[in-house]
Amino acid sequence: MIEEIPINEIPANPGDARKRKILIVEDEFVNREILIAMLEPEYEVIPAVSGEDAETVLLLRPGEISLVLLDLNLPDRHGLDILRELKEDMRTSKIPVIVLTSDRDSEVECLNQGAIDFIPKPYPVPKVVQARVRRIIELSEDRDLIRDTERDHLTGLYTREYFYRYAAQYDAFNPDVPTDALVLDVNHFQMINERFGKQYADGVLIRIGQAIVSSVGKSGGIACRRSADTFLIYCPHISDYQSFLNGIVSAACGADKGRIRIRLGVCSEHDKSVEMQTRFDRAKIAADTIRGSFTDLIAFYDNVMHEKEVYAEHLLDEFQAAVDGKQFSVYFQPKYDIRPVKPVLCGAEALVRWIHPNLGFISPGVFIPLFEDNGMIRILDRYVWRETVMQIAEWKKKFGCIVPVSVNVSRVDMLDPDLVDTLCSLVRENGLEFSDLHLEITESAYTENAQQIISTVNRLRESGFIIEMDDFGAGYSSLNMLSTLPVDVLKLDMMFIRNIFSENGNPRMLKVIFEIADTLSVPMVAEGVDTAEQLAALREMGCQMVQGYYFSPPRPANEFENHIREWLHIAEPATV
Ligand code: C2E
Ligand code: CA
Ligand code: CA
Repeated sequence: MIEEIPINEIPANPGDARKRKILIVEDEFVNREILIAMLEPEYEVIPAVSGEDAETVLLLRPGEISLVLLDLNLPDRHGLDILRELKEDMRTSKIPVIVLTSDRDSEVECLNQGAIDFIPKPYPVPKVVQARVRRIIELSEDRDLIRDTERDHLTGLYTREYFYRYAAQYDAFNPDVPTDALVLDVNHFQMINERFGKQYADGVLIRIGQAIVSSVGKSGGIACRRSADTFLIYCPHISDYQSFLNGIVSAACGADKGRIRIRLGVCSEHDKSVEMQTRFDRAKIAADTIRGSFTDLIAFYDNVMHEKEVYAEHLLDEFQAAVDGKQFSVYFQPKYDIRPVKPVLCGAEALVRWIHPNLGFISPGVFIPLFEDNGMIRILDRYVWRETVMQIAEWKKKFGCIVPVSVNVSRVDMLDPDLVDTLCSLVRENGLEFSDLHLEITESAYTENAQQIISTVNRLRESGFIIEMDDFGAGYSSLNMLSTLPVDVLKLDMMFIRNIFSENGNPRMLKVIFEIADTLSVPMVAEGVDTAEQLAALREMGCQMVQGYYFSPPRPANEFENHIREWLHIAEPATV
């Protein structure tokens, strides 16, 4: 039998800390002692003889109590009132309560108020009481564990795993309700983080979460935070998405509406046999089509996107067979030095082509981004580099001269720890100098993952490779950054040529770019030059090299050889 101690003298952490604590609220001495005797071997039992006692314990140490056994007839309060208050208070609402009663009529009422089970009076044999108590505590702890993993700690929305589970459950219970899958993304969230600080950015995310819940929660919709600034929503079909988005933006961004832009991708796929994940992938595809757009903030997944997706999947499926069947071939586009009056061949760029037996010629603009997304580009690029190095070696043998060729190195390759070794071995195995192979690395790769890329580029340059910065001018590197970047050649993005020769073109922009190159003392190759007029303008601005249809489109190796022959004929007699 335990000694009764006044409630307010219970030590903060009494007895065996490993034992779970059960609060028994029972005023009748005999009943209380019977229960204590049954449970004491396994639990630490805290007795309370009135509603007030019970309240004191619960409010002092709510997190420690694993279970409450509650008598309904207490001297000061009715047990139902205590139960209701317990369930209404955030601090105690999760504690399971078993009601002790001899009054069967109040059972339904107790269940409605949140009691989890009953123990009738007179009490059943100890084994039954002990088994019930143990089971309830286990169940409630499992539930707590789930609650902890099912929610995102920042926003309180579901985590991704639970979200997909509940979305599938929604469909199972509501097979005939048309539903939409939505992806909601904050534009340039990284910038918000950097400019206004993490606390402010977190606040934005929390408010977006709340706005989503209050907007779709009533109709049974659910939401999760998929990654830092991307939310997924599954809800009954919404007909007016503009109002929906306006509502979220006003509620979440308030006075900062101008600063924060949210874009929405919608997949209204009402065919429930389409996998849940696929529907969200589609909503994401739609959202990505308006990434960076200033005018469009909502995009719907449609048939055109669907056909593109099916085509893309088909290409991905065919990749390995295409490598094995040698469907990829490497074309070469010449680069000309335009400083002499008559331009002179000074190198080439290797550009891959996919000649598919059924689909015909597929543009790299279509398949390269796909392969970059899933990493297959590493396999393809290795193939292109090998073919290119072998080709340079073959020309060296055939013509007795070196035509330096640049290959494209995707941003995915740049993260490969074996990159430098792979390239060095290729060059050595074919008896070439490192400077015979140029590497084109896109400008945006430098800005995205600056430190890692720069250190890899430094190692490549130390080995002797020539580094050309591709798409220069499109990645918006800051001048400050440019002056410290390790590059040997800048390749002007084609957009500049298109721009200055278009109707509202602005030649001033191009002049600035050349001034920068001049300050950095790095030579420039202009790409996409297809007319004599463009060539003349570039020459005047001090551009050293040109690549473009004006000289030749990319051609198979044997056709490219005409440029070598012509060059050798001018510079020195051919030594075939
Ligand atoms: P890029 O590296 O900027 O390549 C230049 C693109 O401009 C090539 O398109 C070339 O054919 C095209 N071009 C050259 N001169 C002209 C011209 O005067 N007018 C026009 N309209 N276009 C011109 P292509 O071969 O379709 O390649 C597209 C992109 O695909 C490349 O852009 C590059 O980013 C990627 N790519 C091509 N081959 C490879 C490869 O082997 N590996 C990797 N990672 N990417 C590659
Ligand atoms: Ca390139
Ligand atoms: Ca380029």
